[in-house]
Amino acid sequence: MSEQQSKNNNNKPETKFATKLIHFGSEIDEHTGASSVPIYQASTFHHHDIFNPPVHDYSRSGNPTRQALEDYIALLEGGARGFAFASGMAAISTAFLLFSTGDHVIVTEDVYGGTYRLLTTVLNRLGIESTFVDMTDFDAVKAALRSNTKAVFMETPSNPTLKITDIGEIAAWAKSHELITLLDNTFMTPYHQRPIELGVDIVLHSATKFLGGHSDVLAGLAVVANDSLGRRLKQLQNGLGTVLAPQESWLLMRGMKTLQARMEQSERSTRKLAEWLSGHPAVTRVYYPGLADHPRREVHEKQSKGYGAVVSFDVGDGDRAKAVLSRVKLPLVAVSLGAVESILSYPAMMSHAAMPQEVRHERGITDGLLRYSVGLEDIDDLIADLDQALNG
Ligand SMILES: *Cc1c(COP(=O)(O)O)cnc(C)c1O
Repeated sequence: MSEQQSKNNNNKPETKFATKLIHFGSEIDEHTGASSVPIYQASTFHHHDIFNPPVHDYSRSGNPTRQALEDYIALLEGGARGFAFASGMAAISTAFLLFSTGDHVIVTEDVYGGTYRLLTTVLNRLGIESTFVDMTDFDAVKAALRSNTKAVFMETPSNPTLKITDIGEIAAWAKSHELITLLDNTFMTPYHQRPIELGVDIVLHSATKFLGGHSDVLAGLAVVANDSLGRRLKQLQNGLGTVLAPQESWLLMRGMKTLQARMEQSERSTRKLAEWLSGHPAVTRVYYPGLADHPRREVHEKQSKGYGAVVSFDVGDGDRAKAVLSRVKLPLVAVSLGAVESILSYPAMMSHAAMPQEVRHERGITDGLLRYSVGLEDIDDLIADLDQALNG
């Protein structure tokens, strides 16, 4: 954090989340009073005094616009230091390079597909081994521990069946074995869930989703709980060069200011949609942590402030799923989630297409499963549209 930014933050009274989203320390330019962070579109910085180098000297190592974003996400997650990357996968792969040949990591079995691919096609070549376990089963997590285990990687609720991991339970156990804990918080965002407060060491985001919120920027963020991890991640970010550019940093901050307003509205709509889907004759199963019968709902409620804006549902078989996809008129039919517009995805043919069919089916990712990310449209319109698509 630059001196100017920390001075700004120190001047602020202790505030609630919605206020932090707007008054995060760099919302006013110190030099001109401009109402948004300047975009420092510069790769390098002049040394006015060769004996007294500038705070930032080269934009891979540090850029004031990116720094403002990094301080912003650290504030929201309640961590020591934030980092911005070119994509969610850039953030996740940079964090995994904290580990070395011979190290072993325990990873949730329904981890994001790109993370699975990174672990099984890249990091395995470098001698970083991983074991995938069902993290709703604490005994399975404990049984995966080896003498060379260095970390536990969580994602909760998981994608697309929204399985719930007990963050505090696993973080405490990991700490007792001196393991680093990492958590992909993309689905919940710091508005709903703050893993560092529950003992997690590194929080990761695909900011492409809810944080950006407008399907117009690809970005990743990481927040670390302490300065020592901060120094190590900084060295990796600079060494690998996986940084986010200044324009994208600005655009992301622009989106993040409305995070709470968007999340609240989308979640209210998602609860309504999930209830409605539960009573629909063409739907065989609904996955949403806000539903009374969702497995481990009480664990989710203990660690999160809300249920999020993603609901998955099963329409029975692949033909019906494809029919729904071709008949809906409002949502974007696409990969991705967490935007102002609703997005309907088909995991079997999109995010989880690379998974062997029997593994996919075992995890509930059937050919009839659809995933709905609810945007800001009027929920009655979304329901009417989905109803005509389901009844067809
Ligand atoms: C999209 C996503 C990622 C990857 O992020 P990119 O920005 O696409 O690189 C990682 N984790 C989760 C949960 C995601 O949804």
